[in-house]
Amino acid sequence: MPQATRRLDEIEFDNLFVRSLPADPSDQIRSRQVRDAAYTLTPPTPVAAPRLLGWSDPLAAQLGLARPAVVDAVVEALAGNRVLPGMQPYSARYGGHQFGNWAGQLGDGRAITLGEMIDTTGQRQELQLKGAGPTPYSRRADGRAVLRSSVREFLCSEAMFHLGIPTTRALSLVATGDTVVRDMFYDGRPENEPGAIVCRVAPSFVRFGNFEILAASDEAVLLRQLADWVMQHHYPGIGTYADWFAEICRRTATLMVDWMRVGFVHGVMNTDNMSILGLTIDYGPYGWLEGVDMMWTPNTTDAQGRRYCYGRQPQIGYWNLSRLGAALAPLIDDPAAIDAALEGYEQTFSDGWTRMLADKLGLPPDGDEADQDRRSQLFQLLQAEECDFTIFFRNLAQVPVAAALAGDPAALTPLADAFYSGDGPSAEHGRALLDWLQGWAQCVMAGGEPDAARVARMNAANPKYVLRNWLAQRAIDDATQGDTAMIERLLQMIRRPYDEQPDFNDLAGRRPEWARHKPGCSALSCSS
Ligand code: AMP
Ligand code: MG
Repeated sequence: MPQATRRLDEIEFDNLFVRSLPADPSDQIRSRQVRDAAYTLTPPTPVAAPRLLGWSDPLAAQLGLARPAVVDAVVEALAGNRVLPGMQPYSARYGGHQFGNWAGQLGDGRAITLGEMIDTTGQRQELQLKGAGPTPYSRRADGRAVLRSSVREFLCSEAMFHLGIPTTRALSLVATGDTVVRDMFYDGRPENEPGAIVCRVAPSFVRFGNFEILAASDEAVLLRQLADWVMQHHYPGIGTYADWFAEICRRTATLMVDWMRVGFVHGVMNTDNMSILGLTIDYGPYGWLEGVDMMWTPNTTDAQGRRYCYGRQPQIGYWNLSRLGAALAPLIDDPAAIDAALEGYEQTFSDGWTRMLADKLGLPPDGDEADQDRRSQLFQLLQAEECDFTIFFRNLAQVPVAAALAGDPAALTPLADAFYSGDGPSAEHGRALLDWLQGWAQCVMAGGEPDAARVARMNAANPKYVLRNWLAQRAIDDATQGDTAMIERLLQMIRRPYDEQPDFNDLAGRRPEWARHKPGCSALSCSS
């Protein structure tokens, strides 16, 4: 029996985080350093004219929530204009390493958790507004979020979920009716932009940085208390801090494998943007690989160093975990256990990468080192001429194995679509690819897997529909004009990313040329 849906204002909130952990004794909103507390009770700041622009039906169904039809108490609550009975809004205290440097206190500068509820599956879920106004952690910023970044977070959270990748979710997208001033490219040209608020949902939004700040300020008792709390409520069955850290390492490693599999680039993998549950969290200047390029980053703020580019994500995951390991060190008696967990990260990633690549390529997971090298070399090969990551891998399943085995150029036909030149690879690159495909076809034959099973396995690893940067930008441009049809269309498309959906084929093609250099499509900044 599906559970009857309720309105948000009929929910019984159960605020475990607030109930279990120490609050900041002050509720002053002005920017300040906070000590000896896990959070500050912070009411959201009201906005001018809330309007519901987006709603995730699948997530609402999981929460057992009905979609508001008009601007009612529920929309008011999702805009921060009303605190519903049982809610205890708070902003969390955390720190973090930004671009490799310790940044001290950061905290929820514009995110405010409203409360926790139990969903229809029995899972505890936190409801958190992003862009709901200033908190003590806002530093010099305004606590708000612009429509463009909110549309992007709303859509991408849900896209990731349907791809089967651990992520925070997004229930609603509300336009505030207020404007927000942003200097989008930090080039001294601030503009008024429409504001918005996303209601994010996750079992917990605790980050690596929540622990780092406590270690950095020698708050050993609270460090232990927070660790116990996360372990007890979110890692049941894990007995020791060392085992818990090892499990965080494993989850983060599998998350990196998933990101690499679908060509997702987070863009700002600072330790305050790393979930303690191994979820994708804090969608900012993220992007999806278009042309295969290991060094690609959508984040203009990182264009120089490329610390957070596509190809470096796994090693940054490791670095971030080593920061977390250092923060948890006071809890773990045996320092060797931290190193062992980090080695576990490398092993989990490397095993996961091998399996993932085998699935993407439709090959058996085993194979000697030379085999594995040849597989990984494809990424290098695909960088030679601009070739779409998503289309190439998706269409690989259509390559006729017999033709590839024979070195027949017909093997390249299904892949031609992936090339940004518009008419397939050049003759020279085509020959190199054909060579690679010949080796691939030999492995396929040697594997002996029935074709239909192989193709199904490949299609389950290679999504056809991802939230391409230019698609999100079209949804943003339309939403800015008050038209939400594209948001709705994309929400439909992303629900079945691995299935053929002919109605959405216009959204599965290469990035159009107009989008190549358009802000928001290829270049994003942290300004959001
Ligand atoms: P990010 O790297 O974008 O996740 O943000 C880093 C820190 O800056 C976090 O503590 C955020 O809460 C804070 N922050 C980002 N934008 C704003 C804003 N507009 N107002 C207040 N705090 C912000
Ligand atoms: Mg963040």
